[in-house]
Parts: sequence; structure tokens; C-alpha cells
Amino acid sequence: MTSLYIALAILLLAFVLLFISGRQRHRLGLPGGRVIYADTRAWGPVEKPLYDPHLELTGKPDYLVEQNGKFIPVEVKSGRTPTAPYDSHIFQVAVYCLLVHKTYGKRPPYGILHYPERDFAVDYTPALESALLDLLVSLRRDEHRPDVKRSHDNPQRCRACGYRHTCDQKLA
Ligand code: SF4
Repeated sequence: MTSLYIALAILLLAFVLLFISGRQRHRLGLPGGRVIYADTRAWGPVEKPLYDPHLELTGKPDYLVEQNGKFIPVEVKSGRTPTAPYDSHIFQVAVYCLLVHKTYGKRPPYGILHYPERDFAVDYTPALESALLDLLVSLRRDEHRPDVKRSHDNPQRCRACGYRHTCDQKLA
């Protein structure tokens, strides 16, 4: 159970601490997301978190939708709809795609990001999977370092951050 909490903490840290610019995204070959029409009636809720013991990684997409014998993870986002998915959201969908693959044995071709005004399909490409695995390695490497630097200059991000009360690098 301890490893589960560690994995959860790692995952949370990933989305709080990581910011990769659009320029870096292109360099890493990450997909930007395709606008799609998604039929929400086909979405089924996920009962319990998916877990990969090898990577000690866990996560729970909001929904799964079955398409041609494969499960597609869906992540629902509230708030402002961006013109393109945020990188942190792309990585979150990538985690779900990886966990779905490990759990059900079939690789999802993409995951869905559902914003209030638009849906995006994020292709689960080998490049995205590779970038995710690299990210997990670097997160684990930094996990016990006391001097991990802030990776952005966005005060708004800090104001919404759940680690703000303990973070010595928060922006005003
Ligand atoms: S408060 Fe700001 S710098 Fe600190 S962890 Fe949160 S987002 Fe990062």
C-alpha cells in the first residue's frame, strides 16, 4: 500500500512541478491533440484506479469508452477550454493510456481530453510513451532531492497549487 501512496504522490508531483513549453513539446515529438466530436453516451465510469506494479504507477481516468475491442481513456477538465491541450494534460492522458494498456493488454490508439467547449484526441504515439517514461525516470530521480527548482514562471499556477503552503519557491 505504501508503494501505492508513493506512486500517487509521484503522479501528483508530475503534474504540479512539470511544465514543458510548446517548443519543447515539438522537440520531444509530443502530439498536440486533434479536435474530435465525442459521444458522451458511450462513456462508462471507472470503478477503481488502474495500477501498474512494475512502474509503481496508478491513476483513474474519469471514463473509459470501448472502441473496436480497445478501451479509450477519457479525462474531463473543467474551467477554460484551451485552443490546444496543456502539456500536463497530455501527459496525464498518456499515463492513463499506459495503464489501460498494462491492465487490459491492448494499446489504446489515443486518449480523450474533454474540456467544457471542445474534445481533443491525444494520439498515444511511441514518442509520447517514450517521453512519459523518461519523465517518470526523472521524477523518481528528483524525488528525494531537496533542491528541485521551480519549472515555470506562472504565478497563477502557484496560486492554484496544492503544495503552495509548503513550497519555498512559490510565486506571489
Ligand atoms: S507553489 Fe508553485 S512552485 Fe511551488 S510546487 Fe506549486 S506550482 Fe510549483
